[in-house]
Amino acid sequence: ESPERPGSSVNGHTPDAAARALFAELTGADPAGVWSAPGRANLIGEHTDYNDGFVLPFAIAQRTHVALGTRGDQRIRVVSTVDPVPVEVGIADLEILFPDGRDAVPEWATYPLGVAWALLRAAGLDPAALPGVDLTIASDVPIGAGLSSSAAIESAVALALNDTWTLGLDRVELAGVGRIAENEAVGAPTGIMDQMASMLGRADAAIFLDCRSLQTEVVDLGFAGAGLSLVVIDTGVTHAHSTGGYGERRAACERGARIMGVPALRDLATSDLDRAESMMDDVTFRRVRHIVTENQRVLDTVRTLRESGPRSIGDLLLASHASMRDDFEISVPELDTAVEAAMSAGAIGARMTGGGFGGAAIALVDNDRVEAVQEAAIAAFEASGFRSPTVFTVQASAGAAREH
Ligand code: ADP
Ligand code: MG
Repeated sequence: ESPERPGSSVNGHTPDAAARALFAELTGADPAGVWSAPGRANLIGEHTDYNDGFVLPFAIAQRTHVALGTRGDQRIRVVSTVDPVPVEVGIADLEILFPDGRDAVPEWATYPLGVAWALLRAAGLDPAALPGVDLTIASDVPIGAGLSSSAAIESAVALALNDTWTLGLDRVELAGVGRIAENEAVGAPTGIMDQMASMLGRADAAIFLDCRSLQTEVVDLGFAGAGLSLVVIDTGVTHAHSTGGYGERRAACERGARIMGVPALRDLATSDLDRAESMMDDVTFRRVRHIVTENQRVLDTVRTLRESGPRSIGDLLLASHASMRDDFEISVPELDTAVEAAMSAGAIGARMTGGGFGGAAIALVDNDRVEAVQEAAIAAFEASGFRSPTVFTVQASAGAAREH
């Protein structure tokens, strides 16, 4: 049996039906509309985003759906299938909630409410001018698997509120709103990549993003035409972005840039690495080397996809994984095992994806090797005494949209 999308349903319903059913349960009425936004996988370019560098993510088919209806008052109420207890606040009180009062609501609610708060700030609007809203949320994006369920919920809510409140922000601005919500309202210091992929994704293509200029180019992946699948091996090991290792890596990158006298590590080339090595401690240097070489690998991957096609990017994916394992030190044994198992079963290339310390690996695989890769991963995890991984394929898909 070939791998399926995980979940791909919420309690037996599509996320769309689940969001609408939850809306009916909450309000007894139909929503005014349903909006959705996808999770994302990152083909290559890890931890480069907050270093002003390059990334190459793509939106996936798994999406978060938001059903929305306006209210007669000026309150905002959110509920998600992951927590059946609705959370309600006055729109004007969002200013009290964020950033310092966030503990007054459950953490998941800081995502949609934080988006509302960031959106109002970005649009410079008087909350008294806006109608209240009910939002119900359902998703088939796996949470905490490195596929950015966080950007999916942020982008879906941002688009829904932007349309409903006729704020007129464009997609790049809405991605920025999602990032501010995640950084300041939720308190997770992440970059802009996830939200840009979720807002701008296209079918069968990746989004080449310069995180400094926010300029994007659509890069055809050509996986389908080449008979290739992108397999995700979700280790089930959960990460916590707002804690520990992620902050340490960011700090090391900032330290390295400071030592080298550049605004960001984006401003260093691989030819600067010898000089960098002589100027800083070993750990800081290896963090710097990962970022500098990873930026170059993103550029090389874009060029290779365009000139030679997807079968030629395997070595770049493997080099990316080795750099994250050895220099940036954000892999875990489960991720290394996933990559090794995929390669032993004939994958063209494989690497961990996402922020690290758990989550998922991706493998580029001939369609007729997908099952072999799945079996190899499951067998290797069993032999190592790891919890069995969830293995599925992802398809590059369209970005955030209004559904109804
Ligand atoms: P990832 O983005 O890799 O899935 P994060 O830790 O960045 O992991 O974001 C996951 C968090 O986002 C969840 O713990 C929850 O707080 C919030 N979230 C994501 N999707 C939903 C959803 N459908 N409903 C409610 N909260 C969600
Ligand atoms: Mg996230």
